[in-house]
Amino acid sequence: MIARLHDPEFSRWARQIKRAGGCRQPIHLRGKVEHYDRATGRLLHRYSTLHEPNGVLRVPCKTRRASRCPACAEVYRADTYQLIRAGLVGGKGVPETVSTHPCLFITLTAPSFGAVHTRRENNGKALPCHARRDAETCPHGRTMSCTQRHRADDPCLGEPLCPDCYDYDGSVLFNAISPELWRRFTLALRRRFARLNGLTVKALGEYAGIAFAKVAEYQRRGVVHFHAVIRLDGPDGPSSPPPPWTDSLEEAARHAAAVVTAEVKPLGRTFRWGTQLDIRRISLDGDLTEQAVAAYIAKYATKAAECVGTLDRRVQPLDDLDALPVRDHARRLIAACMRLGSDVALADLRLTHWAHMLGFRGHFSTKSRRYSTTLGALRAAREEHRRTEEITTGRLPLLDEDTVLVVAHWQYAGQGLSLGEQLLAAALTGVPLPSVGGGPR
Ligand SMILES: [Zn+2]
Ligand SMILES: [Zn+2]
Ligand SMILES: [Zn+2]
Repeated sequence: MIARLHDPEFSRWARQIKRAGGCRQPIHLRGKVEHYDRATGRLLHRYSTLHEPNGVLRVPCKTRRASRCPACAEVYRADTYQLIRAGLVGGKGVPETVSTHPCLFITLTAPSFGAVHTRRENNGKALPCHARRDAETCPHGRTMSCTQRHRADDPCLGEPLCPDCYDYDGSVLFNAISPELWRRFTLALRRRFARLNGLTVKALGEYAGIAFAKVAEYQRRGVVHFHAVIRLDGPDGPSSPPPPWTDSLEEAARHAAAVVTAEVKPLGRTFRWGTQLDIRRISLDGDLTEQAVAAYIAKYATKAAECVGTLDRRVQPLDDLDALPVRDHARRLIAACMRLGSDVALADLRLTHWAHMLGFRGHFSTKSRRYSTTLGALRAAREEHRRTEEITTGRLPLLDEDTVLVVAHWQYAGQGLSLGEQLLAAALTGVPLPSVGGGPR
């Protein structure tokens, strides 16, 4: 920290850190950008990282995981909020009339893989967890009852009453197959919706379109469930008025959630959604407003499996699972992934690769093409703004893109900040330090 502070280039380093928006693990780039006149070949401007502090440019890591980089995850969260919101009320290129389209907010849960400790409440008062008067004793000698009133922060929440009975394989296989289950759900919904209105799926396209946006959330027991927005559009997407078939949309969603299945064929296992299904209508002034939905979805977009107490990095095949700093429940889920992952018949599921995610390898937030704008478009808009800002602050000369040839060479030169640099970055940007560990990656 002292070395950095005494460095004659400190103020320029500080400027890079500020420009990276408080990124905790900025990516270091080495390289140059040259601008040539297309007509004469004359070099108009050259930028090289040679003259930057340590010869590198520090750019944001752009992760969506809050556990890795709160600053970049916040940018991602805000972007997700904007694009979910645009799909509900318009904006960012989506017409405002979209707010009149029927919209559902649906939660699809995972099935049970064994009884787990839960906190149940009645008017804010905690109820006994799993009270059973004549509870069975499992083959491992454990009574399948728990009369405790768990506190909201009790670490045992989500953990099984008997870990030896719990279906760990089922839990990680469900996570692995859930993106396929979701895909089949969307197809089944369209099919059912068409049929309820006396149409084929193909003919439906002439009258209506159905747009989806979803996020995955980890429950405490370590399985994912999905929250999704389902919107009814006209044949040309959000810009065209939908047909007045609102009720059949909900009916089709209920049907699809109940009937779809996905198989893990080599093991002969079939998975379906859990019986807990929540469907609510989104309205501008009702119980469930578009703001609440957008905020909710965006919140989960930046969370990963680490909120169940697992790792935020890949598990290596040679890692000693017993030594991983996780609770027993997460360790058993990771172990199930590693064990099933070594079965060649299950290679497609890539369970070893996604063991730290407890088997889930899908995207955290996805949406159908016509839902609203894209993260890419939002990013491009922001980058354009940044470029304009850089030009006006004199970093780059004003050049006409059509007449100028831009040649850029970039090279990855590492990532992260030293502990001392992290302290300085926190002071410079006001973004808090990580609670544990740190250092360059
Ligand atoms: Zn970052
Ligand atoms: Zn309990
Ligand atoms: Zn047992």
